[in-house]
Parts: sequence; structure tokens; C-alpha cells
Amino acid sequence: MKYDYDVAIIGGGPVGSYLANLLARNFDVAVIEAGNSFGEKACTGIIGKESYDDLKLPKKAILNELRGAVFYSKIQSFEIKRNSPQAYLVDRKALEKILAEKAIKKGAEYFMGTRFMGFKNGRAVLQRFNQQFDVEAQFYVGADGIRSRVAQEMGAKTKAEFLSGYEVEVVGEFERQDFVEVWVNKELNEEFFFWVAPVNESLARVGTFGSLDSLFKFLKMRMLKAGNIVEFRAGSVGFGWRKPWIKGNAALVGDAALQIKPTTAGGIAYGMFCAHALAYSLINGRPSEYEKLCRDIKKQISFGMRVRKMFLGLTQEQIEKIFEVLGSREAVELIERTADFDDHVKTVKAIIRSPRLLARLLKISPMLLRHLV
Ligand SMILES: Cc1cc2nc3c(=O)[nH]c(=O)nc-3n(C[C@H](O)[C@H](O)[C@H](O)COP(=O)(O)OP(=O)(O)OC[C@H]3O[C@@H](n4cnc5c(N)ncnc54)[C@H](O)[C@@H]3O)c2cc1C
Repeated sequence: MKYDYDVAIIGGGPVGSYLANLLARNFDVAVIEAGNSFGEKACTGIIGKESYDDLKLPKKAILNELRGAVFYSKIQSFEIKRNSPQAYLVDRKALEKILAEKAIKKGAEYFMGTRFMGFKNGRAVLQRFNQQFDVEAQFYVGADGIRSRVAQEMGAKTKAEFLSGYEVEVVGEFERQDFVEVWVNKELNEEFFFWVAPVNESLARVGTFGSLDSLFKFLKMRMLKAGNIVEFRAGSVGFGWRKPWIKGNAALVGDAALQIKPTTAGGIAYGMFCAHALAYSLINGRPSEYEKLCRDIKKQISFGMRVRKMFLGLTQEQIEKIFEVLGSREAVELIERTADFDDHVKTVKAIIRSPRLLARLLKISPMLLRHLV
């Protein structure tokens, strides 16, 4: 039987276009993208340097290099710094466009401004403005984000925790432009931390997940003026599982499969690593191996969910005590030695292997160990 395409990828976000690049030399690939242009999604654009380099993402999309973080609670702070960049802050629009251009050069065909509506008789029904048409592919991939229509059509189920995220780009003074700020203050926001990620010395992306009100309270506390906001965006993330990731001749990847870090809400790198697993399994003619090949990411997600559960159960008083431990010289040195932006299991393992730090953490709450081990 002759199909229109070997693989149709629904969603030309970062993960869909990354996958298109991996597949386009082996297959006839179509990318169906509902948006009329790229980079429309709310996203701070922080990606771990090691992952960015491993994934061979374009240097041209990098706006800033981050080599450390300052953690603030309500009453104290500590910082973790390295001599070299640990993460990049990227221009999402540039990243997506460069990936799409590269995929097209390798042979992928893009359908911009075209929405996937559902499957009918094995064909993907698409809508572009008021025109409906369909295409048939041997294999379909849902890279269509958190509210994935493909996942719905596949009958994938989820009990994940979904959160709204709000982010602004604000003008201010950010002298330490190579440090991201992480603020943990449950009195302002019980559900998540706040971040301040400098784009340069006078512009930063500031955001949180939870309520818009808490973001504005934070801006005030951080002495950033609401009147200095030059861009505002909102979006969603989901922490948990959406299953299955593959069924028959369709698979989910990226946010559509909730391949998102529950500790930081970062999803670009995890989605792309899983895109590698999917591409490998398709190229080798064994798509059913896709999920198994994602086992490292699954391990990180399930660990991240335990950390998230622990975070939700902590009071601000307990957070202050944890800051005292993590801000100690011993802990800072250990974190600076072991921290890996995308592998939190590694850092936490190192901390709980230190008998002194473990004993101090257990004193705060024995529950910590239950969640982390
Ligand atoms: C406030 C906020 C801040 C974030 N910050 C970071 C960060 O700093 N670092 C990080 O790694 N992650 C961050 N994330 C998460 C990150 O944005 C996602 O993990 C990432 O965008 C996932 O990429 P994706 O390609 O899987 O999905 P998406 O980026 O959502 O792309 C899906 C694409 O599919 C298209 N689409 C949807 N439905 C259809 C349809 N029916 N037909 C055709 N096309 C369709 C959409 O238009 C979109 O282009 C943040 C998220 C939020 C909300």
C-alpha cells in the first residue's frame, strides 16, 4: 500500500522538529503544525549545557550562559557556582525555526497553520483555515504538547498534576547576569518556586507555576515593576504520566507524553532524549522498544515526582531548615562537585550518601528519606 508519508509528526514545537531532523533522512516525513509561526509558547528557555551539547542544538539560539544559581528562601540564601556555564537561556523562536529549517533541508515537509483534528479511517484529518483535507501515514507521532489531541485519539490516560505557568520578561538591573535566582517562599506560592533568569544585565524572564496573583506579589517583593514588563506569557505543564506512549501505529513524545521534569518543569531536553529513543526504534523497525529505550528519563521523572510530593508536604519552617543544611559549606561544596542540571538523582544521591548531611536532613523530617530513597 502506498502511504502519503512514512511518518506524520503532529506538532512542530522543539521536540516535533527535533524528531523530524532525526527521521528525515530515513523516511518521508510530514510535520503538521497548528501555529502560523514558531516560538509562540510560554517558556523560559533554560536548557542544561551538557544536554544542549549532547543533543547538538544550535549555538545560534543561545541568548545567555548561566554558570550558577542563587537560592533564596524567606529569610536566607546560598549560592551554587561553577567556573563554566551549566545551562543556556535560549531564544525559543530561533531554536524552533532553525530546527524546522534543518529538517526541511533534510527532506521533511511542513504544513504550517494546519491543525490535526483527529483520525478517520486511519487517515489524519487536518484543517487549514476553513479548508479540510487528510493525509495518510504509516506511523503517526503526537508531538502536539500538553493538551495533545493525538493522545486523546489514542485513548491515552493521565492522572497527572496540571499547573498553569506565568512568565514575564521584565526590564530591571540584573548585575549577575550569569546566575539564575530561585526563590522558595510558600507564603507567596505553595505550589512552586519563582525563578528570575537574566537574558542580559537589564532584562530577565521571571515566572512561576500556580497563580498569576502570586507572580505579581513576587515581582513587588523582588522590587521589579509591573510597569517594566515587556512581554507576558502563560502556559501549562503536567507532572506525572500519560500512558501509553505508544499504541498501534501511533506514539507520543515531548509534552504530549508528559516527558517533563517535575522538579523544574523543564521539558525540552527530556522530550528530545525521548525523540532519540523513538527515532532509533522506528529506524530499526522495532517501534515497540520505544518506551524501554526511555528508561533513564522515566527514572528521572519518577524521582522528580517524589521530590515534588515532598516539596508539597513541606512547611516554610521546614524549608528554612533545609536551606540551613543545603547552604552549609559541606553541602555547597558537594553540590558544586556533583550537580548536574538534568540529572537530579545524581545530586540527591551524593547528599544522602554524606552521613552528616543525611542525619541533619532526617532531623527536619524523617519523611524526607521516604520520599528520596
Ligand atoms: C511558563 C513555562 C516555562 C517553561 N520553561 C521551560 C524552560 O525553561 N526549559 C524547558 O526545558 N522547558 C520549559 N518549559 C516547558 C517547555 O515549554 C515544554 O516542555 C516544551 O515546549 C515541550 O516541547 P514540545 O515540542 O513537546 O511541545 P510544545 O512546545 O507544546 O509544542 C507542541 C506544538 O504542537 C502544536 N500543536 C498543538 N496541537 C496541535 C494540533 N492539534 N495540530 C497541529 N499542531 C498542534 C503547537 O502549536 C506547538 O507548536 C516551560 C513551560 C512553561 C509553561
